[in-house]
Amino acid sequence: MSFDVIVVGEGIAGLAAARDCARAGLRTGTVEQMMFGGLVTSINELIDWPGEGGESCSGSDLAANWITEAADAGVESLGGQATGLEAADSGLLLHTDAGTHAARCLIVASGAARRPLGIPGEHAYVDRGLSHCADCDGPLVKGADVVVVGGGDSALQEAAVLAHYARTVHVVHRGSAFRARPAVRAVFEQAFAGREGALSIHWHSTVTAIEGEDGIEAVQVAGPGGIARLQARAVYPCVGLVPNSAWTGLPVDAAGAIRVDERLATPMPGVYAIGAVRAGHGGRLVDAVADAARAAGAVKEALQC
Ligand SMILES: Cc1cc2nc3c(=O)[nH]c(=O)nc-3n(C[C@H](O)[C@H](O)[C@H](O)COP(=O)(O)OP(=O)(O)OC[C@H]3O[C@@H](n4cnc5c(N)ncnc54)[C@H](O)[C@@H]3O)c2cc1C
Repeated sequence: MSFDVIVVGEGIAGLAAARDCARAGLRTGTVEQMMFGGLVTSINELIDWPGEGGESCSGSDLAANWITEAADAGVESLGGQATGLEAADSGLLLHTDAGTHAARCLIVASGAARRPLGIPGEHAYVDRGLSHCADCDGPLVKGADVVVVGGGDSALQEAAVLAHYARTVHVVHRGSAFRARPAVRAVFEQAFAGREGALSIHWHSTVTAIEGEDGIEAVQVAGPGGIARLQARAVYPCVGLVPNSAWTGLPVDAAGAIRVDERLATPMPGVYAIGAVRAGHGGRLVDAVADAARAAGAVKEALQC
């Protein structure tokens, strides 16, 4: 079975690109290794996203609306994990763990995964206090102390959510200033405004160990004053993302993001990369959606429709 275009990844970028291609009359398939929606499904209140009528919306609502729009436009959801791609005489072949699909063009929208802290024993605490979703398990840390690691958008976004539940939110950041965008900083500052003792920022510091028998009880933090031990019931690592690019074999930059030209084309003819998996991604949902529109336009032009 051959497609005009297959989009790898049903995150926000992939869903938008697939919908736009299908609306142009292209036979469009998507491949997704998990549930649709990608990184934003754990976010209850999106920042910097123009929800309907200016209302804030959750990542899962957005993803649910867009998977419906894609299906209504005729996108075929093929499922499976993409494992490789190859150029053949007949076009492009996408290999997945559920079989091989042929397409005239491919859009890689496989996004990114959370970077681990990189400390020994970290994985043993996954789902036992080590979390990537403050919106999901915030109520479980009501009245407790928690640690957020990082200084970018997602760290401050998670800390702002935890402000509603935790006694003290420790933010451990290796730098001397937050990198988060102004809109995210405003939400963060608002969440802790007038709440003495609810926020403790540890500059120039890193988490070096997590302690606890049945779950997290404390973390060790290395900072300018030496090693400190913080009581904490949960740790939220927000130390960046790793692009899901390795499966493609395409050229990447130092961060592992796929190199593209100004049309979002990769060096492999007919293959485009968009959203969090590509080098130079702006980082926000609006950037991912803008990528999707550009790549869909380039595919339409390439296939002359
Ligand atoms: C904690 C956090 C909070 C954020 N909050 C906001 C916010 O409030 N506002 C905002 O504008 N932006 C926010 N962002 C940024 C936003 O999430 C990203 O810009 C956007 O989600 C990128 O979308 P994407 O589709 O490129 O990638 P992803 O969301 O990562 O989607 C990629 C999809 O591809 C799938 N996939 C990966 N590899 C394969 C494979 N080999 N085969 C098949 N499928 C595969 C994945 O399972 C996933 O579903 C946030 C990011 C994080 C981490």
